[in-house]
Amino acid sequence: MAFSGVVMLLGMTQFRFMDIVPVAYDLIFKNVKSGIILIDLKGRIAGMNHAAEQILGCSEKAVIGKPAVDFLPHQYPILGEFGEAKEIKIEIAMTELGPYYELQITPLHNRRSELVGRLVMLYDITARKQIEKQTLELTIERERVQLLQRFISNMSHDLRTPLTSMKVSQYLLRKELAGQHSVRLDSVEQQTERLAEMVESMLTLLRLEKDECSDLFNLDVNDLVNYVIEFSRPLAGKTGAQLHFSPGKELPQVLANKDELTVALSNLLVNAIRYTPSGGEISISTICDADRIVICVRDNGIGISAEDLPHIFERFYRVDPARGTQTGGFGLGLTITKTILDRHAGIIDVQSQLGEGSEFSVRLPIAKAS
Ligand code: ADP
Repeated sequence: MAFSGVVMLLGMTQFRFMDIVPVAYDLIFKNVKSGIILIDLKGRIAGMNHAAEQILGCSEKAVIGKPAVDFLPHQYPILGEFGEAKEIKIEIAMTELGPYYELQITPLHNRRSELVGRLVMLYDITARKQIEKQTLELTIERERVQLLQRFISNMSHDLRTPLTSMKVSQYLLRKELAGQHSVRLDSVEQQTERLAEMVESMLTLLRLEKDECSDLFNLDVNDLVNYVIEFSRPLAGKTGAQLHFSPGKELPQVLANKDELTVALSNLLVNAIRYTPSGGEISISTICDADRIVICVRDNGIGISAEDLPHIFERFYRVDPARGTQTGGFGLGLTITKTILDRHAGIIDVQSQLGEGSEFSVRLPIAKAS
């Protein structure tokens, strides 16, 4: 041991290491990015580097000889525990919102192995802490959404049975009353229908979000649009809306799920009818544009303001909730349409002018020839 010490000393003298080593140590101490604080046995600051000055927000000169605990967050009186000569590692936050540091305390011993002070190292772990915090927030949010979805799903399923029995009772009551109180009965039936529609919309949305993908088949878009138009005629008849269809010629087929696409297009057509004052015009057209089939539903109805336009695909968003209560909307129709189109690699665009009308265009990829 003594021999090797002599050899080292000889080496250092011979190669002038004695000059280099302290200079290098000094340079490292000054420039290292982590904060370093030297503390004496009484817990007083004996020195610190530039990084520590920045972390503590004060100059070395101003703090020399002062208790280190005064400059670190008060909940860590750990620096006062100088009785024990062990190494300590803890995480500290300078404020509730950070920055965060890993604080490592290492005992300093002299050649006679006597404890002479402590070396406090502060490593910045703010970035890691923020990622941990975000991950935790994301997990909590995901669990919250799952819980909410389960609740909505259970509630919607539970509502189906009483709604069916209410509809049956209303039917029987109408028969028994033989034309009496028909206005009141109409209103009760209408509200029950609205509630049933909402429950079905919620269940559709939940199912679409749960099922990973749908079964897709080659479909003729014009056939599908014709089917949706015929299906919507009774509603158009009630409001006196005129429905026009301009089918594109010899259109290639699209790869789609017929039931889902029917729902997506029906929602657009029902909206066009609902939000067009009586006697309005609704035009539906199909064309082929490059590798997409474009389906347009245009109306000359009430239109949508520029403020509302970016939000209409959000769940439960209704431009005018009061109007929705009269016309029967719940703000789920366009969310369902958009969800279905996403599942088909489709795109939906809307253009609208308040008081002039709206145009919704759906773009679906053409099915590849097999
Ligand atoms: P809702 O069931 O309320 O109709 P949607 O999600 O289908 O819900 O539509 C969201 C909102 O977008 C509607 O409340 C309505 O205000 C507006 N909207 C949708 N389509 C049209 C349209 N063709 N003309 C005017 N407003 C529309």
